[in-house]
Amino acid sequence: MSRNDEEVRKFLQRQHDAEAQKEKLKTYKNAAGTPLFEDYNETHEVQIIPDKSVKAAMFIPDPLNPKKFRAHPETIAAMRKELFMGGEDFVDLEHFVKCKSCKSELDFQFWKHCPYCGGSFE
Ligand SMILES: [Zn+2]
Repeated sequence: MSRNDEEVRKFLQRQHDAEAQKEKLKTYKNAAGTPLFEDYNETHEVQIIPDKSVKAAMFIPDPLNPKKFRAHPETIAAMRKELFMGGEDFVDLEHFVKCKSCKSELDFQFWKHCPYCGGSFE
């Protein structure tokens, strides 16, 4: 476990504990029948800066700005940007798939293709 992994985990935990998370869940229920993410405002507030020194599939929070992250350009290309801030809310939709080339197990709801090698899913 690197220090960076630790930071991302802490960040995700903070998101999970927030009262705001409950409010967000309600919003999803209310939005039943309409696209889950009709309102992209929150997602747009998050900035992800390409940085080739960051490991694949990692998002490193900026210590000064919680809405800013650094990620490898390949990771940014592979992620489903609209789901990035979903966090724990999406646990029900968890759907693990395997990368055809490197066999990494990845949650399909977060990735368009493999962030490690760019491969497609099985
Ligand atoms: Zn792969």
